[in-house]
Amino acid sequence: VCACARPGRLQGKAAMEERRSFYDLDEEERCAVVRECGGASYTEKQVHGWVFRRMTYAFERMTDIPGWVREELSRRFRIVPGELDAAAVSRDGTLKALVRFRDGVRVECVAIPLRAYWSFCVSTMAGCPVGCRFCASGKDGLIRRLSAGEMLAQYLLLARRVETYPRTVVLMGSGEPLLNFDEVWKFLSLLNHPDMGGLGARRITVSTVGIPRGIERLARGGKQFELALSLHHPRDAERRRIVPVKHPLGEILEKLVFYRHMTGRIPTFEYCLLRGVNDSPACAREAADLAHRVPAKVNLIPYNDWNPRYTSSSPEVVDRFRKILASRGVPVTVRRRRGDDIRAACGQLTAERRG
Ligand code: SF4
Repeated sequence: VCACARPGRLQGKAAMEERRSFYDLDEEERCAVVRECGGASYTEKQVHGWVFRRMTYAFERMTDIPGWVREELSRRFRIVPGELDAAAVSRDGTLKALVRFRDGVRVECVAIPLRAYWSFCVSTMAGCPVGCRFCASGKDGLIRRLSAGEMLAQYLLLARRVETYPRTVVLMGSGEPLLNFDEVWKFLSLLNHPDMGGLGARRITVSTVGIPRGIERLARGGKQFELALSLHHPRDAERRRIVPVKHPLGEILEKLVFYRHMTGRIPTFEYCLLRGVNDSPACAREAADLAHRVPAKVNLIPYNDWNPRYTSSSPEVVDRFRKILASRGVPVTVRRRRGDDIRAACGQLTAERRG
């Protein structure tokens, strides 16, 4: 039920949270706010169109909205919670953007040109508390979690920059999405809105190191998001050395089976190949066994060098790994390197406390 029926609900709250970002409001809140600011029942749709379809940054520009509504909206809200601080374009066309928020914290996000469309990679936290050994995003720990509006800001800043909405979105920037569940869920719901480029749940991938409670909540959410598990090693003890999470693989796999049962989607194992660490034929055979237990498909990721402790596996070893999985009936792909000349590739995104 639209909160338009309950005017006044947000008065005290919005007044206290002075100039909150409009991006952080869900549909019900937006509706209530626009009514409180003097708008008619159809005004919210117009404001929504200006903010999310035309990607306007100022309420004053909304020329078909009455002046008193615009004034009241700008007195109480700002539209965007951050700004584009810097951008770099790779030789393959990948765009990396550094977005700076109001408190000075900055995160990176990426727009990747694929054959006929774009894919956006969004960060869900500044820094990351997990600290995977091969990942630059988590090297300094967690700076802070991002709000849904701050995730949406990355999405819309990239869309403005490349002048189109993407076909797919992956939550594979800095941060563990399922450790910021409520804000991520709100962001995913905002992305699903028809004004946002018609991005269906199957075009959005949530990537996790394996947070059982988060996987279960996502499964119960009633949406068919794609789910990717950062596996990186098929044995618990060795996996913990590179992906330091306490949950055993058995428990994580159980939740993936549940996810598949609830959503009908086939989870993916992301597997970053590190020379001499996880690229042996035995690892490939064991990864195939795990994939059959879900069942899951596998995406092999050549390592993008960042930590001198690790080196990428040779193309021959990547191919040998792929063949072992394929020969055991596991659907397997090898991810193409994108944007590594501007450090925009997987595991290379970073965050900063202030600029
Ligand atoms: S791989 Fe993901 S979970 Fe691990 S440190 Fe990097 S951002 Fe965090």
